[in-house]
Amino acid sequence: METITIVQAGHPVLREAARPLTRDELVHPDTQRLVERMRDTMRAAPGVGLAAPQIGVGLQLIVVEDSDERMAALSAEERARRDRHPVPLYALANPVLTVEDPTPLVFFEGCLSVSGWVAEVARARAVRVDGLGLDGNPVTIRATGWHARILQHECDHLAGVLCVDRMNPRTLSTPDNLAKYGRVG
Ligand code: ZN
Repeated sequence: METITIVQAGHPVLREAARPLTRDELVHPDTQRLVERMRDTMRAAPGVGLAAPQIGVGLQLIVVEDSDERMAALSAEERARRDRHPVPLYALANPVLTVEDPTPLVFFEGCLSVSGWVAEVARARAVRVDGLGLDGNPVTIRATGWHARILQHECDHLAGVLCVDRMNPRTLSTPDNLAKYGRVG
């Protein structure tokens, strides 16, 4: 397993628009290796999504994976409220996100590049993402609930947007304080 340091807020790469990959770049072994390192870095963090700019690479590339293990701290009721279910690992290049149901769902959200903080962020309930798989073929992902939240968060990274741009700032908390005091603000 080869992990890469995740860059933190304040690094310019997190505020730049990432560029799309060409088909030749996408199927190149270097890109396959990059995606493997992104996967390993996401799993080690641990996180449920990672965008290439978070490891200092300004390319439109994301990996997503959610599992029972990563939502172990949530009760069945909390999972149901978040519409959160396991999502098998996938990688996507050049994703274009379309909101299919703008109904805002508000939950606390964190980011591996804003380490140590969480805040409430409203996200659309359902999205469609059109992109390219690692074989260069078109892929369409339809997602609701937490999976839709992950996709909105990761696609934001590719546009130089961080969750802090969308959060309710009065709810900003450390994860420990959120667990101890609940929502404050
Ligand atoms: Zn993030």
